[in-house]
Formats: sequence, structure tokens, C-alpha cells
Amino acid sequence: MQDFKELLDMGLKFHGHKCPAMPMGLRAGLTAMEKLGVSKAPDGQLMAILELDENHCATCFADGVQVATGCTYGKGNITRTGYGKWGLTLIDKKSGRSVRVVPKAEVMAKNKGSKFMQMRSSGIPASQVPPEVVAPLFEGVTTAPAEALYNVGEIKSNPWKDAPHTFETMACSQCGEMVVERNTRVKAGKIVCIPCSGYDK
Ligand SMILES: [Zn+2]
Ligand SMILES: [Zn+2]
Repeated sequence: MQDFKELLDMGLKFHGHKCPAMPMGLRAGLTAMEKLGVSKAPDGQLMAILELDENHCATCFADGVQVATGCTYGKGNITRTGYGKWGLTLIDKKSGRSVRVVPKAEVMAKNKGSKFMQMRSSGIPASQVPPEVVAPLFEGVTTAPAEALYNVGEIKSNPWKDAPHTFETMACSQCGEMVVERNTRVKAGKIVCIPCSGYDK
């Protein structure tokens, strides 16, 4: 496992600002990995299912999960269910086992009542919240024992079958840009990309 401090620095650089949700996701990822006995995925070995939705508080959680687990939107081994919750289910594809880790409601509720969250909800971007306001929350999430922060479920059987990755690409006959073949459309007898086709999808 990467040194925690190193990982945290990487998380901060990747995420762009200091907030409690990124480290909350980072440690959720580490806690799930520890429970499953797996390490960070260089390829697609792990799959992360987040329960977040869009446009709500603490979605920064997802960036911490990506940094810790190596499940990234680029690799395609992370997804969101849109429940508007902070549960993380981490699946080890090789063993077909998974675990769900969820931040304790009382920890989230305590953060919610903080000055940081008051400022955030009044529209102040996280990067503009004074460091002394963020620091206690950040410290709390990064230093508390994992048992104080998360409920960790039992390991479950969770076989996972990846959809095969396609390597078939071609140039659109209209705009000339590269497009994955299965995403092309036929328009007036020509094979074109979706934007050139005028279709919604
Ligand atoms: Zn954030
Ligand atoms: Zn095109």
C-alpha cells in the first residue's frame, strides 16, 4: 500500500482544493481494499460502485475513491448509481468478492453542522474557505480511526463480468474525426459520428 501521506498529497493535487469529502472517499477506498485484501488497481482489477448522484454536497468523495483504489473514470471501472448516498461497493473481480463501506451518518451529520459546510452551502467555493475553517474537518477525517468513520459490511460474493473493450475505430466521413465504430450512425448512406448524424444518440 502506498504511504498514506503520499496518497493524501496526490489526492489534494488531483482534486484541487482541501475539503473533508475527498479524504473521506480516499479512506473509504483504503478501508474497502484492506477488508478485501487487495491493492490499488493498475488496470481494471477492481470495480467501484458509488451511490452518489450529481449536483449535491460532498460528491468530492468520488475523487478520493479514485485516487485510493485506481478505479477511475478513464479506465471505466467506477460507476455511480445516483442514489444520492455515500456508500462505496468495491468489487475484486478476480475473486468475485465485494465489500460495501459507508461513512457513518453521525460523522457526516457532524460535518454538515460545521462552519465549512455553512459557507459551502451559501455558495462559497471550497478553495475560498479559509484554511483554519477547513483544517479541523480535514484533520478529523484523515486522523480518526477507520472504525470511527465507517460502517464496513461483510464480504459478499459478487461475480463481475467485464464487457469487452472495443478497439475498432474509424474516421467520420463528414467531420473526419476519429470515432468508435459501434458509435457511428448511417446518414444519407454515409457512416458518420453521432454529432454529424443529427441524432440524439
Ligand atoms: Zn472537495
Ligand atoms: Zn463527424
